[in-house]
Amino acid sequence: MEKKLKGLLAKLYRKNFLEKPELLYLLENITYRDAGLLFAYARKTRVKTYQRKVYLRSVVEFSNHCRNNCWYCGIRRENKKVERYRLPPETILACCASAYQAGYRTIVLQSGEDEFYTAAVLADLIQTIKREYPGMAVTLSIGEASREKYYRLYQAGADRFLLRHETIATDLYERYHPGMNLQQRLQCLKELKEIGFQTGAGFIVGLPGQTNEILAEELLFLTEFSPDMVGIGPLIPHPETPLGKSPAGSVEKTVILLALIRLLLPEVLLPVTTAVNTLDKYGWEKGLAAGANVIMPVVSPAECRRKYEIYKNKAGVDYAALPEIKKRVENAGFELDMSRGDHCKRLRPAAII
Ligand code: SF4
Repeated sequence: MEKKLKGLLAKLYRKNFLEKPELLYLLENITYRDAGLLFAYARKTRVKTYQRKVYLRSVVEFSNHCRNNCWYCGIRRENKKVERYRLPPETILACCASAYQAGYRTIVLQSGEDEFYTAAVLADLIQTIKREYPGMAVTLSIGEASREKYYRLYQAGADRFLLRHETIATDLYERYHPGMNLQQRLQCLKELKEIGFQTGAGFIVGLPGQTNEILAEELLFLTEFSPDMVGIGPLIPHPETPLGKSPAGSVEKTVILLALIRLLLPEVLLPVTTAVNTLDKYGWEKGLAAGANVIMPVVSPAECRRKYEIYKNKAGVDYAALPEIKKRVENAGFELDMSRGDHCKRLRPAAII
């Protein structure tokens, strides 16, 4: 590895910050093959904060209805070939019960943007989960909503909220998310954080038109916004979408970006997303070796996993797969931690309306 790259990585490890031209230089010049030093610094950084622990999240996809039309997503509004479903609250609670019995202490309730589930319905569901399954953290991943709705869900007991911003480049955002608005998305993220949620942002790797300069801007945005969680994943366009013929994003680039994010945000909760593990059967292992500390198995009922097809062949497991997950994590040199796995500095603050 050349001297300038080594120097920049040492600086990033020491200061947890680089200027945009420096990040761009790294992104332009580092390859997966020679990223050993980057990954080593990222692992050392995660070990300082989270030791070798890997937190598990149990993802339940409760509705594949969505009012949006993102150009890569298989459950976009205009894909008429999707068999749509909505899980009733009792089925969602049954998923929670299975997750709880299996030892999971975070449930991620994920859906398209589906207004069928009003604030009242979701608040009731969250309160029931909190009452029936003590110690279970509830993460929501349900898209954009009003501040009032977010506030009500937080008051009901939800702990975390994932809202990937998808891309910080306005032109790409508008091209691939028709009818949506980046400023509105960022406003939602700001409000979630203000209300008190442990908040997750994140972007897609490999959108057509995405340059290293844009990726450097992504990293700077994350540094500035400082979310509690960051979820990034390679683009896997669904064939029944306008981007259906575009190539998938690179797992290797995604893993390099995970390591850079770990160094820029040493305390962040950083999952190896399902998309990484879908494109690469050693995706979890590669992500963990690059500083990630969370894995999020999709454990929805098998029938729903098939229908929640944001992309083809999405990786999923059932609750019985826990020993196998444990084995993979341990073989990678880490240990499974079945606690809630909160951000190391975040206590639950009182909500700000
Ligand atoms: S990416 Fe999310 S918001 Fe966009 S269509 Fe798919 S589920 Fe809906």
